[in-house]
Amino acid sequence: EGEKNKYIRGKELGEGTYAVVYEGHLRSDPSQLVAIKKIKVQKEYSDGIAPDAVREIKFLQELSHANIVRLHSVYSTRDQNLCLVLEHLPRGDLEMLIRDTAAVRYGAADIKAWMGMLCRAIAFCHDRAVLHRDIKPNNLLVAADGALKLADFGLARACADPYRPMTANVVTRWYRPPELLFGARHYAGSIDVWSVGLVFAELIIRNPYLPGNSEIEQIGLICRALGTPTEDNWPGVTRLDAYTVPTDQTYPVPKRDTFLGPFGTVGTDGVDLLMKTLVLDPRRRITARAMLSHGWWHAEPRPTPIQDLPQRR
Ligand code: ADP
Repeated sequence: EGEKNKYIRGKELGEGTYAVVYEGHLRSDPSQLVAIKKIKVQKEYSDGIAPDAVREIKFLQELSHANIVRLHSVYSTRDQNLCLVLEHLPRGDLEMLIRDTAAVRYGAADIKAWMGMLCRAIAFCHDRAVLHRDIKPNNLLVAADGALKLADFGLARACADPYRPMTANVVTRWYRPPELLFGARHYAGSIDVWSVGLVFAELIIRNPYLPGNSEIEQIGLICRALGTPTEDNWPGVTRLDAYTVPTDQTYPVPKRDTFLGPFGTVGTDGVDLLMKTLVLDPRRRITARAMLSHGWWHAEPRPTPIQDLPQRR
């Protein structure tokens, strides 16, 4: 009601899988730009936004961090759509930078700067018991000053779940950890750490590392690249509801040397950190907090200052 009238909606900025994003500004100060994200609610699946979702998202307004897209306001419209008023970040996302191999060049120091910002954002939220659950390069937006900002924190839980039929088939599975693929119902920050590891890998090779076309294929790719989950490397895994692994072969968990080939450009410390994020057993996976204490951040090269990071032209 009151919140809605504080903003004036302008032109459409883009359309995503479950939202349309508009430019907007403060009614009281037109120089203050915002992005207004209108979540599409599919009427077949819902009578509108659950009051729970609104309450949960309101909580996200408290999450204030340099590397998290600021959520200024939340309101529902007359037609039961949910609108999020967000920090305006018009410089694209990390996926655009990774894919534009013709125009965008970057190296180990840039990757270290981007990964540092991502890890600080995740650690900040995990300290506050908020999980992201949908980390991927296209959820990492670039600010005018070059800072990387994680978008849609907590929304996967607050928004997507009530409309599971709408989102389950479209949300990318490439960053999904094995425990979710196996149907685990109890999970923790370790699910985000897995996704962070896949973003790290993708930044290095400039291609999605494990681009499965189905859940079964995703599990197959994980097994081949990172080892077949077994009771030996992950006690309890075979009791998960949806546990299935390729039966033709049991792949061993690879040693560090295997990773130095494709990922060696970030150095042995970088490869060590990458491997700690991609540990099959979520309980043995490194935490976001522990990632920040890793030796890689202090190894050469130092992270690029944000104002010197490569930008989209
Ligand atoms: P997707 O994640 O599928 O790209 P989104 O709904 O998150 O979809 O965003 C749709 C488009 O809106 C994005 O591609 C981007 O161009 C734009 N957009 C999203 N968030 C912002 C923002 N905070 N500031 C400016 N533009 C944004």
